Amino acid sequence: MQKLVDKLKKAKHCVVFTGAGSSTLAGIRDFRGKDGLYTEYDAEKMFHIDYFKNNPRYFYNHARKLFYELDKIEPCIVHTEVARLENLGIIKRIITQNIDMLHQKAGSQNVIELHGSPYIHSCLSCGKQFSFSQIKEIVDRDEVPYCDTCGGLIKPNAVFFGEQLPIDAIQDATNESKAADLMLILGSTLVVQPAASMPLYTIQCGGEIVIVNNQPTPLDHHAVLKYESLGEVFEFLRENLN
Ligand code: ZN
Repeated sequence: MQKLVDKLKKAKHCVVFTGAGSSTLAGIRDFRGKDGLYTEYDAEKMFHIDYFKNNPRYFYNHARKLFYELDKIEPCIVHTEVARLENLGIIKRIITQNIDMLHQKAGSQNVIELHGSPYIHSCLSCGKQFSFSQIKEIVDRDEVPYCDTCGGLIKPNAVFFGEQLPIDAIQDATNESKAADLMLILGSTLVVQPAASMPLYTIQCGGEIVIVNNQPTPLDHHAVLKYESLGEVFEFLRENLN
């Protein structure tokens, strides 16, 4: 792991890419894993924009535990160390597939959320925005939130099936991936697009990738370093990179 420390010290533009694995350490269950949340609800219904528009109660009933308890979850060592290294100027940007807002909670400033997050909610009719805590209050009363201006249905700004990913975020992430001379990929299996493309941009532009994931990924053979345990890697960085 000293090799990783050396690479991080030398890197001029290190970008971090995080997937679900970095949040499972914080106690958030992986959506897709064996014990994933997809086994409890019909995710195709719950997270599909068309179903949501017609049956918002299905989403909000299940989301009470899934989304609206997120404020009780604390960042794990991955989030806190990434924030610390960002603060030291070693990490420049963080691209995440996660919608749990834990990077920001840990103090990271430069986060690109590929799939949005429930930090902000929007009225589907007039676009009026609402904060997480405003909506949480309503959902905790077992009610579906509707806009106080126009009566439209309110939806978290996390990307649902059937919706476009936020174009600005994709563009930013693409630019950052191309600019990166080192990309650290943390807890992503790199099978979902456009996530899977980001490290390829880095490689195509002459950068290196390092993967930390407890499962194989399709890009393992491109990685200059590969580790399995996020916990071990970040404990090492905490002790050895200051
Ligand atoms: Zn409205």
